[in-house]
Amino acid sequence: MLQFTKNSIGFLVFILVLFSCANDKVKNNFITENVIVIVVDGARYSETWGDPTHQYVPNMADSMASFGVINTNFYSKGDTWTVTGHTAITTGNFQTINNTGLEIPKNASFFQCYLKEKGFSSTSAWIVASKDKLEVLSDCTDSKWKGKYTPSKNCGVNGIGTGYRNDSLTFIEIMNVFDNFHPNLMLINFREPDFSGHQGNWPNYLKGITDTDEYVYQIWNYIQTNPFYKDKTTLFVTNDHGRHLDSVADGFVSHGDNCEGCKHLNLYAFGPDFKKGIEVDQNRNLTDISATIAYLLNFNMPKSKGKVMLELLK
Ligand SMILES: [Zn+2]
Ligand SMILES: [Zn+2]
Repeated sequence: MLQFTKNSIGFLVFILVLFSCANDKVKNNFITENVIVIVVDGARYSETWGDPTHQYVPNMADSMASFGVINTNFYSKGDTWTVTGHTAITTGNFQTINNTGLEIPKNASFFQCYLKEKGFSSTSAWIVASKDKLEVLSDCTDSKWKGKYTPSKNCGVNGIGTGYRNDSLTFIEIMNVFDNFHPNLMLINFREPDFSGHQGNWPNYLKGITDTDEYVYQIWNYIQTNPFYKDKTTLFVTNDHGRHLDSVADGFVSHGDNCEGCKHLNLYAFGPDFKKGIEVDQNRNLTDISATIAYLLNFNMPKSKGKVMLELLK
């Protein structure tokens, strides 16, 4: 009888160990509970991290880089337009899509996948953008997802079709959304430096990079001091596309082809699960952001073609 009990206890322990191992495989033990993605629209790599002096991104260079990871080999692998770039980030797919806000993406975004799986309300996830057309990112045409689990949005002057908003106003909206809703997942778009680039105004294009570097820095500071976000929030900073090399077409004024200037982007990642103060050069692209977010927050994105950027993580 005693022998039987001993064996039973041994067997029970064995089953418990097996169960906890299986559980470990399913659940990733990350600290990250919130993810913020900031897209600085249309900055060319040669004026951001690709400029060895980092003169136009002083906050990223002097304050942020030593606490995060930068990938120097980060690219768009699709059309180098605003809506394609953002769609690649949110859905994990490079899709040729109308760039004026007349078409919604094919595949479910990380917002929809996250809200469905976690059962959270729409105010847990937000899109806050200077460009009104980016409201298309809130939904998709997939019949299983269309109109469901959509995030809250605050885009352009007053939603799609109302025009672009100045980044200074978008910054105010971002801080209001942070304070009022404490989103777990947020995509932010600043229209600069793309906006001034298209006007052919080089000084204002550079100012757009420096101004957005300051907004990014203020958000970076906020998530480290606000009690809701402190020590459990991941931040990605990237671009939707770059701009032509000086030797291509009208140079910095435009974008949209496959030149190195249009494709090469900046990627900065920061958070409790990320390495600190290093640069990596593994070739990655915009779709890998969605896969990495899903991995960190432990939800599925079956249609994302992205790969988890493990080299960024501790
Ligand atoms: Zn543009
Ligand atoms: Zn180009």
